[in-house]
Amino acid sequence: MGNRFDDQAGVDAAAAATDLLAWYDRARRTLPWRARPGERPDPYRVWLSEVMLQQTTVAAAIPYFDRFVARWPDVMALAAAPLDDILKAWAGLGYYARARNLHACARHVAGEFGGAFPAAAEALAALPGIGPYTAAAVAAIAFGAQAVPVDGNVERVVARLWAIGDELPRARPAIRARAGAFLPCARPGDLAQALMDLGATVCTPRRPDCPACPLRAACAAHARGIAAGLPRRAPRSARPVRRAAAFWAEREDGAVLVRRRPPRGLLGGMTEFPSSEWREGAFPAGPAAAPLPARWRRLPGVVRHVFSHFALELEIWRAEVGTPPPPSGTRFVAAQALAGEALPGVMRKVAAHARAGAPADRLSRRPSRRAPAGAGGRSA
Ligand code: SF4
Repeated sequence: MGNRFDDQAGVDAAAAATDLLAWYDRARRTLPWRARPGERPDPYRVWLSEVMLQQTTVAAAIPYFDRFVARWPDVMALAAAPLDDILKAWAGLGYYARARNLHACARHVAGEFGGAFPAAAEALAALPGIGPYTAAAVAAIAFGAQAVPVDGNVERVVARLWAIGDELPRARPAIRARAGAFLPCARPGDLAQALMDLGATVCTPRRPDCPACPLRAACAAHARGIAAGLPRRAPRSARPVRRAAAFWAEREDGAVLVRRRPPRGLLGGMTEFPSSEWREGAFPAGPAAAPLPARWRRLPGVVRHVFSHFALELEIWRAEVGTPPPPSGTRFVAAQALAGEALPGVMRKVAAHARAGAPADRLSRRPSRRAPAGAGGRSA
């Protein structure tokens, strides 16, 4: 817990929390995982939403959340589901380790706690896939614990309110300490959600709407005219670029060759089209890494996708392959079944690109085939 009245920046944290909660009662966002006023929050929905919202926008997470809770309405149902089903349902949302951890966490909560999430942030943080932020968010929102989860939105509000001028990530300890000054609070769950809402809708990154802000009178950055420049960030270094060749082998009946990625690591357990190794440097020369012999032809253009630590460029090679047996570690998937596979965003782009490069006779034979929904979608 921090100093509740910060002399240097002149911020009365208790008064700010009161103003913020009054604003939240008027302006809170309606979100599918959020309890309505007077309702008890459901820890399962809070946890599921917080995992989905790691690295993902609210707008992108909502349809996934709705589908997940319709199919798996509680943690016991999710724990009983095969991992493959969860990966398929997660496909397109990106950061697939989250889906694997989601499943592991559900199993742990089902097996060790009889389906009841622990209430304390420390116990939550010991569960698979739950870091300090998610633990604090679930503890505060679902159980009313005295915690302030500091995500990107909250970080921005706090850095501005106290005019913390250090660059990120060096500023983070100071930001966390200042966020703690809001505690103790009578409504810690609402306070956390109010800070998130304020950062998402008013105290936005480029153009904070200070005239509409309930914290305007207390805000040190606003008073000094430096709000839009905070929090300061070190310039980003350019992402390295990896390149590879990806292979679209299409059988006479339209089935396409796929394989499963190794269970751990990037896109672990997801479905992909065979490709050469993704590595920095030039594209591999010719279809040397093709999964089977065929008359491969390179399609014009390149598929680009940005991951958190590197950018990927894929040359797409396509072949019509008759009816060969699938090479070891691969399988053919019927064209109609491809959309139901656990295809990450980058592979959806590959599918769209390869289909656009189909020979005219194949296009005319199968006019109804389309790229799966979400082609060209989010970073994984
Ligand atoms: Fe953000 Fe402006 Fe509100 Fe300060 S006054 S918290 S900068 S929106």
